[in-house]
Amino acid sequence: MIKTYQNKPLIGISTNISILESGTFAGQKRIYIHQDYVTAIVKAGGIPLLLPLHDSPDIMKAQIQSVDGILFSGGQDIHPLHYKEEPKSCLEEVCVDRDFYELEILKCAHLLNKPILGVCRGLQLLNVAFGGTLYQDIERQFPTFPSQHSQKSEKSAATHTVNVVPHTRLYSIFESETLLTNSFHHQAVKDLAPDFFINAQAKDGIIEGIEKKGSSFILGVQWHPEMMAEKHPIMLKLFSAFVAAALLNKNKLNP
Ligand code: MN
Repeated sequence: MIKTYQNKPLIGISTNISILESGTFAGQKRIYIHQDYVTAIVKAGGIPLLLPLHDSPDIMKAQIQSVDGILFSGGQDIHPLHYKEEPKSCLEEVCVDRDFYELEILKCAHLLNKPILGVCRGLQLLNVAFGGTLYQDIERQFPTFPSQHSQKSEKSAATHTVNVVPHTRLYSIFESETLLTNSFHHQAVKDLAPDFFINAQAKDGIIEGIEKKGSSFILGVQWHPEMMAEKHPIMLKLFSAFVAAALLNKNKLNP
């Protein structure tokens, strides 16, 4: 008998793509994701499903219809043409196929009112998709000398302070005005998208978290809570809140 998991929502996780450089399958594209995202969603009570990228809008819609929440994962820079800028020499690797896919499924997810969590690139995607812009490289473009946001220590190490803005969803999740986070980004939000507000900021002013106004769960963080969750269980709270929002949404649609 097939057991149904009525109390667990399906969480789609956007994936990355790489081209194998050597070996038998050199030149093949491979879809992948860091295991930490999967582990965090499982620990938070969700059922993780990877969302492989492709170029069929109908299938994208079907993918999003079939999940209860979408986690946009970290990765490459978003191509600046999506925020009406030419690429500067400080831009790092981009993936135009991934940009296209993720912007499309984000549109679907928003139309269908699905809870959305953005991590690192995922936060930047939210900002760009809803009309904001990015610093293509904070070292070169941020108006003041920034703290180190591309840490050299291990992935789970908390290396800089983040101030959490009271009365935000993020604050209600962590119940703390400060957090210590890891940091692996050379870009950051420049102009915030309309209808969004800042929920977290580093001491140097770099935006570390954003959320959309309104009641739906559309929230992004610039750090990598999934990489910290094992050593710093407080970070699991974010995934638990997201999974809870996805479950609520699922039960609303299928009472
Ligand atoms: Mn940072």
